[in-house]
Amino acid sequence: LLQLYGPLNFLGSVYSGIRTALVDLEHMLGLADEVVEVADPPNPLPLATKLSVSAPARVEFRDVRFGYRPDREILHGVSFMVEPGHKVAIVGSTGAGKSTISRLLFRFYDVSSGAVLVDGHDVRDYRQADLRAAIGVVPQDTVLFNDTIGYNIAYGRLGATQDEVEQAARLAQIHDFIASLPEGYKTRVGERGLKLSGGEKQRVAIARTILKDPRVLVLDEATSALDTHTEKEIQAALKTVAARRTTLVIAHRLSTIVDADEILVMGHGLVVQRGTHAALLAEGGPYAAMWAAQGSEGA
Ligand code: ATP
Repeated sequence: LLQLYGPLNFLGSVYSGIRTALVDLEHMLGLADEVVEVADPPNPLPLATKLSVSAPARVEFRDVRFGYRPDREILHGVSFMVEPGHKVAIVGSTGAGKSTISRLLFRFYDVSSGAVLVDGHDVRDYRQADLRAAIGVVPQDTVLFNDTIGYNIAYGRLGATQDEVEQAARLAQIHDFIASLPEGYKTRVGERGLKLSGGEKQRVAIARTILKDPRVLVLDEATSALDTHTEKEIQAALKTVAARRTTLVIAHRLSTIVDADEILVMGHGLVVQRGTHAALLAEGGPYAAMWAAQGSEGA
């Protein structure tokens, strides 16, 4: 029995890690109360998941229509392409359908018509587990597991060594903070442990994603503003994780997306304007108005 205990215990921690990662993802996607059933195809296509062993992915939305309920369509034909290694940002008023786009990319729901494609193939042609391994999320609000801060970072890739965890923490600019704690990486966090600030939690999420090494990155920017110093550190950490990665940003602060390859302005389930920051400003219209409004708030 004792011989069995080790592997079982290991499996238990793998399972709880997976569970927590899913909880995190569902929380970020606002799906905590929903059970969504989408089926794997009988003969799934292979999909490379890690950036370190394959090229960045290409993501495409092709005339996507979708509603959570048949009588209320939310997306009315959305098309865009994120070229490998490029960064596309989605902005728009609340309820415009921004988060819905990231939920469809993860295939939490199937589209009513049109298609979501990764590497040129419909997401319905892949195994869901592969699709979700290929996409990493840095959510608005990270749910921490009641365990050590080291474990919370490591479950980005179960089985990562302490060196790998520390390397990821360094890149995410959270290593110095952790090293300053009396118990270092063994410090317990979460509801029953040390409470981390919003900025610290976000850096834990970034470190996790660095370990996960996904080919596609979804950044769901926090609505609440962090202080300027923290914001600068987070932006630097995000730059590291987004480097060379195909990135989709759901943006609330326009100042963070001026370098995006393309910005999509969503309004009522449609892309109402698209282009680079400079082109959209020159064009006038909704984006220029949002920029002027945020500028006056000091964003
Ligand atoms: P925000 O900036 O406030 O996060 P958003 O642009 O991300 O908004 P979505 O979350 O994509 O907006 O929501 C688009 C529309 O879909 C909204 O009208 C919302 O009420 C509706 N909606 C979102 N989630 C669900 C759901 N699970 N079931 C039914 N309707 C939903």
